[in-house]
Amino acid sequence: MDLYEYQGKELFARFGIPVSDGRVATTPDEAEAAARELGGPVVVKAQVLTGGRGKAGGIKLADSPEDARAKAEAILGMDIKGHVVRRLWIEQASDIAKEYYLSVTFDRGEKRPLFMFTTQGGVDIEQVAEESPEALVRLHVDPLEGYQPWIGRRLVYGAGVEDPNEQKQIAAIVEKLYAAFVGTDAMLCEINPLIVTPDGEVKALDSKFTVDDNALFRHGDVAEMRDPEAVPAEERFAREKDVIYVKLDGDVGVLGNGAGLSMSTVDVVTFVGGRPANFCDLGGGGDAQGVVDALEVITRDPQVKSIFFNIFGGITRCDEVARGILAALERMTIEQPIVVRLDGTNAEEGRKVLADAAPPNVYAEATMLDGARRAVELAR
Ligand code: GDP
Ligand code: MN
Repeated sequence: MDLYEYQGKELFARFGIPVSDGRVATTPDEAEAAARELGGPVVVKAQVLTGGRGKAGGIKLADSPEDARAKAEAILGMDIKGHVVRRLWIEQASDIAKEYYLSVTFDRGEKRPLFMFTTQGGVDIEQVAEESPEALVRLHVDPLEGYQPWIGRRLVYGAGVEDPNEQKQIAAIVEKLYAAFVGTDAMLCEINPLIVTPDGEVKALDSKFTVDDNALFRHGDVAEMRDPEAVPAEERFAREKDVIYVKLDGDVGVLGNGAGLSMSTVDVVTFVGGRPANFCDLGGGGDAQGVVDALEVITRDPQVKSIFFNIFGGITRCDEVARGILAALERMTIEQPIVVRLDGTNAEEGRKVLADAAPPNVYAEATMLDGARRAVELAR
């Protein structure tokens, strides 16, 4: 789960990382009131779950409460890479002398958390990695040893920070960032930019914070930070229906039983030149209601032009799934063609159930590859 900047900063503050004082606002009125309360110049910042807000015009300085209102009016409702701005973060403006970058994330290959630090902050880190890789210090942490003071020092010296006052503050922030990363079961904690003010104070001016969904049960307060409106409508609907679904941007609806088979189905559709519209896992059950729910979720996406139903019967029996498909077709009108591949437990019975009923828009295929080809063809 991705957090908004202000939520990430709230967690930073909890772990002792310095951030500026600010307020959330959802209307120009609230923005003006927030600026008045904070006093002095403020920054009006779009809260959207994507980066590059500055470049897109979603971050503006305001030198008075009235100005903050005007800037809020301009930013609210703005579309930043498909994300509509509904919330703002009004923050006391900082003077910036230097912009650094600091993050900790998982390096899955190494199976260890990875720190990255560079004094070339403020820009995309991918750009730094490409154009001046020598300026980017990378350092893994042994999760069993945990944080050791040399880690902060190695990052700071490695990146060439010379001011002892900065070195001390940054090393302390590195330690706190690691504590935040572990303490919230995060996948990513990124500060870009980590600024140095003209007075030599180091603080986090931005936050990118991703927590592990699977660990949210341990962090009730973080789980509550989820903004249901930030999720695509189809995914929200899927959650209500208890269907495991992730929206993608293609036109072939995909349905499998089991996460592994469903992932493979997405891959196979791509492999034969199609574009999957979603990931959807029917799970181990596959009873009629489960099929109805899944089909309702998949067909809610207006981009879906065909559906590939890929079932390998194990615990799930193919005849039951076939009956589920027929029941679903009785209860709802599905305009898109459905390609069904049934294999495994009771596959023959399943195919017979379908053949006997012979619904007009259902096509049976014997193999996964043929099924994918047919579904991709039908989406054209
Ligand atoms: P992003 O574009 O989504 O990464 O948003 P950031 O929060 O990183 O802000 C983008 C840029 O806006 C920063 O790199 C700064 O240059 C500028 N900025 C943000 N807050 C302030 C501030 O308080 N004072 C000044 N002078 N610039 C700011
Ligand atoms: Mn940023």
